[in-house]
Amino acid sequence: MNLKALYKLRYGLYVVSSRKGDKLNGQIANTVFQITSEPPTIAVSINKNNLTHEFIKGSKVLAVSVISQDAPLSFIGHFGFKSGRDIDKMGSINYKAGETQAPVVTDNALAYLEARVIQEVDVGTHTIFIGELVGADVIKEGEPMTYAYYHQVKRGTTPKTAPSYVEEKNEAVPKMAKYKCTVCGWVYDPELGDPDGGIKPGTPFEEIPDDWVCPICGAAKSDFERME
Ligand code: FE
Repeated sequence: MNLKALYKLRYGLYVVSSRKGDKLNGQIANTVFQITSEPPTIAVSINKNNLTHEFIKGSKVLAVSVISQDAPLSFIGHFGFKSGRDIDKMGSINYKAGETQAPVVTDNALAYLEARVIQEVDVGTHTIFIGELVGADVIKEGEPMTYAYYHQVKRGTTPKTAPSYVEEKNEAVPKMAKYKCTVCGWVYDPELGDPDGGIKPGTPFEEIPDDWVCPICGAAKSDFERME
């Protein structure tokens, strides 16, 4: 079996958010699908370990924000590599309360969908929440971020809790060493640099200023380790 076949599937990139009483949380998800149009219904796959999973299961409401392709890595890192159990993710983010009071994230969002859960499917590590839309709108025009764009162009790593995570192995020996963040797993590729963080493509890791931090999780440069 060649699991690389799974890389040929195409996904978008979304913030899925929910609430539990007054508590709000959101996370990055790539598995959001429209499954019927009459009535408009979507499905979202969420890892059972995530706080957002607990919130959706309890409140039966969720909101999906479609992320713009120009969203910075730090925004994706904020929702994708941090847990709402450790920080208040919504504290520093612009959002509005939806019909169901689910928090609709408006930062870096092109559009949003809000749904009430009508069915849940247990698929082992994840639950697929099926929801009927109760709200939706376009926030601004632009190109939606695809999972492929994020993975290949922005060159982040896939969190191990993502449904589409597949163990990756290095195939080519790089000219300049790549360095991996020991906190979140993001890989610094010298050929790509970190343009969002002011590091030009072609900059060896060793030449990055000491006050530079991981664009995904904010870890210090000293938290990176050289990859073989
Ligand atoms: Fe990191």
